[in-house]
Amino acid sequence: MEKTYNPHEVEEKWIKYWEENGIYKFDPNSDKPIFSIDTPPRYASGDLHMGHAKNYTEFEVVARYKRMRGYNVFFPNGFDDNGLPTEKMVEKKYGKSKRDFDRKEFIELCKKEAEEVIKRMKETFIRIGFSCDWDYYYHTIDDYCQKQAQRSFIDLYNKGQVYRAEEPVIWCTYHQTALAQAEVEDKKRTTKLNYIYFTLEDGSKIEIATTRPELLPSCVGIFVNPRDERYKHLVGKKARVPLFNFEVPIMEDEAVDMEFGTGIVMICTFGDTQDIEWWKKHNLPMKISIKEDGTLNELAGKYEGLKLEEARKRIIEDLEKEGLLVKQEPLEQTVGVCWRCGTPVEFIPTKQWFIKALDHKEKLLELGDKINWYPEYYKVRYVDWVKNLKWDWIISRQRYFGVPFPVWYCNKCGKIRLAKEEELPVDPRFTTPEEKCECGGEFVGEQDVMDTWMTSSLTPQIATKWKDDPEFFSKMFPMSLRPQAHDIIRTWAFYTILKAYLHNNSIPWKDIMISGYVYVGKGIAMSSSKGIGTNPKEIVDKYGADVLRYWATSATLGEDLIYREQDVIRGKKVLTKLWNIARFINSHISGYEPKSKPELRTVDKWILSKLSKVIKQATEYMEKYEINKEKKVVENFLINVFADFYLEMVKYRLYKEEKDEAALYTLYTVLEAVLKLLAPHIPFITEEIYNTIYKKGSIHKSSWPELDMEDEGVEMVGDKAIEFISEVRKFKSKNHMSMGAPIKSVVIWSKVELGDALEDIKNTVRAEEISFLEGEDKVEVTK
Ligand SMILES: [Zn+2]
Ligand SMILES: [Zn+2]
Repeated sequence: MEKTYNPHEVEEKWIKYWEENGIYKFDPNSDKPIFSIDTPPRYASGDLHMGHAKNYTEFEVVARYKRMRGYNVFFPNGFDDNGLPTEKMVEKKYGKSKRDFDRKEFIELCKKEAEEVIKRMKETFIRIGFSCDWDYYYHTIDDYCQKQAQRSFIDLYNKGQVYRAEEPVIWCTYHQTALAQAEVEDKKRTTKLNYIYFTLEDGSKIEIATTRPELLPSCVGIFVNPRDERYKHLVGKKARVPLFNFEVPIMEDEAVDMEFGTGIVMICTFGDTQDIEWWKKHNLPMKISIKEDGTLNELAGKYEGLKLEEARKRIIEDLEKEGLLVKQEPLEQTVGVCWRCGTPVEFIPTKQWFIKALDHKEKLLELGDKINWYPEYYKVRYVDWVKNLKWDWIISRQRYFGVPFPVWYCNKCGKIRLAKEEELPVDPRFTTPEEKCECGGEFVGEQDVMDTWMTSSLTPQIATKWKDDPEFFSKMFPMSLRPQAHDIIRTWAFYTILKAYLHNNSIPWKDIMISGYVYVGKGIAMSSSKGIGTNPKEIVDKYGADVLRYWATSATLGEDLIYREQDVIRGKKVLTKLWNIARFINSHISGYEPKSKPELRTVDKWILSKLSKVIKQATEYMEKYEINKEKKVVENFLINVFADFYLEMVKYRLYKEEKDEAALYTLYTVLEAVLKLLAPHIPFITEEIYNTIYKKGSIHKSSWPELDMEDEGVEMVGDKAIEFISEVRKFKSKNHMSMGAPIKSVVIWSKVELGDALEDIKNTVRAEEISFLEGEDKVEVTK
């Protein structure tokens, strides 16, 4: 073994070896138990950063562990290139909006750009030792995934679980598309509450407080609370809207908050969900003044064409000029914003497709209970989300790059024509069925595309070939594990559970493992679309993939981690230590192969008992996906017990003319187990050492260590021995002696009979003489 470990050379070598020998391939014909992973398909919107490196490595370690535990591991990988993130990446790169492109040209451009990004990400995955099986690769815009998403739609349509309706929907004016409730985040902000005058028919004035005067052209009514004595006389009258000069009725509704503002509110179509409720309940007209791009339309008169913010400013100025603005007050409020761009959402009525979710709340909660959540506390997020669900899932998106709806409408009678199975995947935007409608009308394709979650909610069905290979599907579904980040519980986890219920009446997976985020500083998470974060390749180039991975598995499951390069370097130290230990052992056991277990000394039994416990604990942690704790237990054993004490205690036996077989056996056994326990975390260096010393093929095809040598009696003696060694070491350092310096004599008092360990103490501390007396623990050293 080389004096210093060269990660770059070694890692490249093993990547090639693993690939050429199909080390990580799933075997569809094996009868071993299956462990399957529903790998998150990464967005094709930019390069990977350290946050991905962490989250992907966390469950990649699980895949390696399960292989060693004898599972036939099914570990596909995919990319999510369909949808908004890709479109936005392309729009940003070319500096223009999708609407300024030809639709087909834009779609091609998205495909091309996504491909480039995927190529780079794939390289990074391979370079960091991501052991997925690329035979099961998919990306969400490929023909197969489009087919699955369209099958999903058709299945739900046939089951009566999708419907089309014209409703005010949540709208992002930046992305110019409808959004699902799950895509809206709450944001706190301070705004101004404007008290403005409306005029009654008799010329008297009433005051109304509003945060959104730019919606005045959309005002369709005024409400007061029926219990509000102050305003009883107003009900049934009409008021004139300031600046816009049209009349609206004054009505009553119990939902009016008498404490807010003046207790008189205006309803506009649509400022918020309350407006939508009142509009429905009181059957009010619809006056829409906000366009899809967030500017005002002709209803706004002289404010037409202005962006909302600008219009608000100008309208307030004009109100003030005309003496119609009574006062302004600062107001803390919570607004819903688009989760991707932070733009406050609007409500715009459009014709959209919905999947029924509200009907299934009970069932969804029940399914949530059947899944094992790791860590358990994240289940609450799912439960709260389901309980507070207010909308069905809107799946239409007014975008270009996505999976098209497999739907045409008759231009005469409106009849719906669904795509047939043999037509899938289909793009009704560019193709028309050959036949005409029964009524003689032409079929016109749906122009919207489906929400990207419509496809990614199917990753378990995509991976297991639902409707494509029934035999494979029945063997593979539900999957074993869904790993994912905590911020997409209400989207990805929720939608996947909903789909598995509606399509398969099942849970999608048995376990869900939730990971945290990586922050670069306080409150700033790494994000590829925002260009924040270190590319893992940088770290790999500097230190190698094992060092990166060592860092990546240091977070507690479910918790966030702050990224600092000095933490990454820690892994390098551990690797060096491991390399040096292995080199030392190799220099002594080279050529040795244990035939049967030799007669062991107490210290040998002691370290093997400790190892047995470490294996047991490590296995328990791995089973709970607590991989950082597993690593800590093993690292602590390796450095603070095995290297610091056992290796020192055993040295004298190795330098004898005739090597001590018990020592060789123990070193051989412990190192092999430790390598295996660390192999999931640092697959390269462990593979290199394992192949050099053990020559039993790939460590990643070996089995997880097992050892049943726990012995409390032996441990008590061994622990005492190292206590006394530490005492002598302290003595030496106090007397400015080197640790290897010889000493004249040691006298030990103890109530624990040390037996043959006394000899090991003597040789470890290099004492010429040692004696043992029964008594309270004490050590006396003579220089
Ligand atoms: Zn947006
Ligand atoms: Zn027709």
